[in-house]
Amino acid sequence: MKCRVLKSFKNKGEIQKIRRIIEVPEDMIINMTGYIQSLEFCQARKVKPDRICGAPLREGINGFLSCSSPLCQVPVKDQFLT
Ligand SMILES: [Zn+2]
Repeated sequence: MKCRVLKSFKNKGEIQKIRRIIEVPEDMIINMTGYIQSLEFCQARKVKPDRICGAPLREGINGFLSCSSPLCQVPVKDQFLT
C-alpha cells in the first residue's frame, strides 16, 4: 500500500525522509501510525467505534488528504493525536 512518510524513520538501515512515498505492507501500517499516512485510505482514528476510519482518501482544497467524513476533516498531522 502506498504511504507518505510523515515523520522520518530508519528502515533496514535506510532513512525514510518526510514526504517520501513508500510501499508499506498492509499489516505494518497500524504499527507505524504517526510515521506514515496511507495514501489510499483514511487513517483517522474514530473514537466510537474504536477503529481506523478506512474510507478512501481524496486531496481536499486545503491540500490535506481526507475522506468524505466531516469528522476526519483535520490536518494530517493532527489525525494521530487522539
Ligand atoms: Zn475518515
